[in-house]
Amino acid sequence: MICVSIGRGRHRHVIAEHKHLAEHGIRLVELRLDYIEGPVQVARLLRDRHCPVIATCRRAVDGGRWAQSEETRRLVLRTAIVEGADYVDLEDDIAASVPRYGATKRIISHHDFHKTPADLESLHARLAALDADVVKIATMANHPTDNLRMMELVRTARIPTVGLCMGDIGMPTRVLAGRYGAPFTFATFHEDRVMAPGQIGWRQMRDLYRYDSITTATRIYGVVADPVAHSLSPVVHNAAVQAAGIDAVYLPFRVPAEQIDEFLERATSWPLSGLSVTIPHKESVLKHALRQEDLVTAIGAANTLSFEPAGVAASNTDATAAVESLRAALAEQEAEEIAAGGPSRKKDGLGLKTALVLGAGGAARAVAFGLKRQGVDVTVSSRTLERSKRIAAEVGCKSVDWTARSRVPYDCVVNATPVGMHPNVDETPYAKEHLRSYMVVFDTVYNPENTLLVKEARAVGCRIVTGVDMFVRQAAIQFRIWHGADAPEQVMRDALKRATSSARHSD
Ligand code: NAP
Repeated sequence: MICVSIGRGRHRHVIAEHKHLAEHGIRLVELRLDYIEGPVQVARLLRDRHCPVIATCRRAVDGGRWAQSEETRRLVLRTAIVEGADYVDLEDDIAASVPRYGATKRIISHHDFHKTPADLESLHARLAALDADVVKIATMANHPTDNLRMMELVRTARIPTVGLCMGDIGMPTRVLAGRYGAPFTFATFHEDRVMAPGQIGWRQMRDLYRYDSITTATRIYGVVADPVAHSLSPVVHNAAVQAAGIDAVYLPFRVPAEQIDEFLERATSWPLSGLSVTIPHKESVLKHALRQEDLVTAIGAANTLSFEPAGVAASNTDATAAVESLRAALAEQEAEEIAAGGPSRKKDGLGLKTALVLGAGGAARAVAFGLKRQGVDVTVSSRTLERSKRIAAEVGCKSVDWTARSRVPYDCVVNATPVGMHPNVDETPYAKEHLRSYMVVFDTVYNPENTLLVKEARAVGCRIVTGVDMFVRQAAIQFRIWHGADAPEQVMRDALKRATSSARHSD
């Protein structure tokens, strides 16, 4: 069950949000009485309530906003009990001084905004002994292993326990709480008005992660990165598994570089079924792979891991997606030319002779490798000459100084830099006057899809491949690897476009 926390300054706003949530099927809300400005009218908030409530009144030290005296706070909590709140949240240091009364259930809570204590079991035992109906422990995760310890505590607890880790690292415990036996998890009314680090909005919890349908049979996938909060992979993969009727959830795992080894060594404890891998882990995950595709060995980086019974398999779907996206655009072009009476041309590989790849990061490396394997004469150009020279040596292609990148024309220009990405939408890495109508222009930036480079290339008459094409294709290949079925690509594309457009509008 999802419990939505309501924290508003005015009573009428609390009542309106409570009503709205109940109308949308929410069956438990937490009234954060510490957010109320001025005297708290507990009876007014509980009277005619629209669904069961937890009455909570947090001090600043526990992450709350209570600004009045401690005596008044305890009076508010006692009043909530007398008025018949379904649950009252009592912090462990005051629980003994607030007696049980009537049918109100006692949630005995403990918060630690700095760490997840080493001995969670004895902390839990102490809270449970305070006449608890439910134990709630919320601690900061500084290491992915903190999540595993917390989930194990919840799984083995003998009384109902809500154990959550806070922060980006702890976010998966909020979504997986029910899977490990927690009676409910917490979400906020608005995604932007979070009350604890790592909290997400109730719509995301319900519709994106489908909290209520997650069971112990649900397979766990995710993206591992640092940072990870901006990743759109959860949006795309969760939409895909839902559309395909697959019992799986896809989560963002923030794992700092120095913790990736331990995270992967403990993968079976979650247990993880598959991971997308991105910055800064694409190279460092390789030592954990029992098996790797030829392409991974050639590129020296993986963006996909599958946890198979025999061990971890590593793949790289970026290079394949880039090549497939180009192939599809070129096939479409040829089909149009044939329809217009043109000849059908026999060609090797992609039918491109030369390509310029802009950038020298992971995306540039994957694209350059993919194109080279198709027999394309590739030139890499990057702001930092040393980096492009290094890639050229690894791939076996040429490099050219950034200032000379448009001196000669190429059949294909690929932008594998973030230039043109939101919010810098007025920038392009390749000036319009150098574009030619016969070129294929491929911009790997997907937010927005129609970058300035894409718009200018389209105006000149170039064939276009967008970052959305590539993103959806690489995710679709991952889907095929993990689930053994073709991905619902249109669903993934629509989900990605909705997410990028709402991200742009919320800025
Ligand atoms: P990365 O490893 O950080 O590399 C970024 C590259 O862009 C570096 O070579 C960097 O140059 C260069 N760069 C950054 N800002 C620049 C600027 N203002 N002018 C010129 N060059 C600049 O990142 P990555 O993983 O390769 O990703 C690069 C871009 O590819 C991302 O921003 C994303 O939009 C896109 N991408 C798309 C997909 C997809 O599926 N569509 C997948 C992966 C990536 P320096 O070396 O000088 O810093």
